[in-house]
Amino acid sequence: MKVVLATHNAHKITEFQQIVAMTRPDLEVIGYDGPEPVEDGVTFAENALIKARAAAAHTGLAAFADDSGICVDVLGGSPGIFSAYWAGQKKDATANLDLLLDQLADIDDPHRTAQFVSTIALVTPDGVEHTVAGVWPGRLAREAAGAGGFGYDPIFIPDGQSEGAERTAAELTAHEKQSQSHRARAFESFIPLLKTL
Ligand code: IMP
Repeated sequence: MKVVLATHNAHKITEFQQIVAMTRPDLEVIGYDGPEPVEDGVTFAENALIKARAAAAHTGLAAFADDSGICVDVLGGSPGIFSAYWAGQKKDATANLDLLLDQLADIDDPHRTAQFVSTIALVTPDGVEHTVAGVWPGRLAREAAGAGGFGYDPIFIPDGQSEGAERTAAELTAHEKQSQSHRARAFESFIPLLKTL
């Protein structure tokens, strides 16, 4: 089965390729190099739908897209849909995480809880639309650590690790991240939707 992945984000393409290889190796995921729509939705689901609709209309194939970000509890769920631009329009990942660390400088560990959220939209050329979401709970570290992953991974400590041996998402192997991330969790809910194609 062929499905277009509607993203120009190279990190997401790599991560989805790894997730698909681990869970649905029969699925043929085709990259999308058509026009990028303006993401003017106010929720992850709206923005994921905007991207998937554009790719389905441009290619004539079923398309899926993920919109994702980090939601910090003490900030009322921000950066949320503004994660890519938190420190300005330049999409500078280091500036984004430095700003977040500054904003939380006086916040104690128990109140540094946060979640990565991924919403995947599937849109078919005849206009059928679905969305599913995946959440990866954790908390923000005090300083960046690790060189893997992308974006806020160096300051995100996923829940469920042994005390004293906790690693940030950027210190996990690609296999470890792709087995448990918000994107992997959303993709798990996305698999049954493929049967509707
Ligand atoms: P989008 O491409 O508009 O969905 O923006 C997603 C932004 O959220 C990225 O630029 C990152 O800042 C952040 N983000 C989403 N997923 C991840 C992840 O898996 N690790 C780290 N940061 C992420």
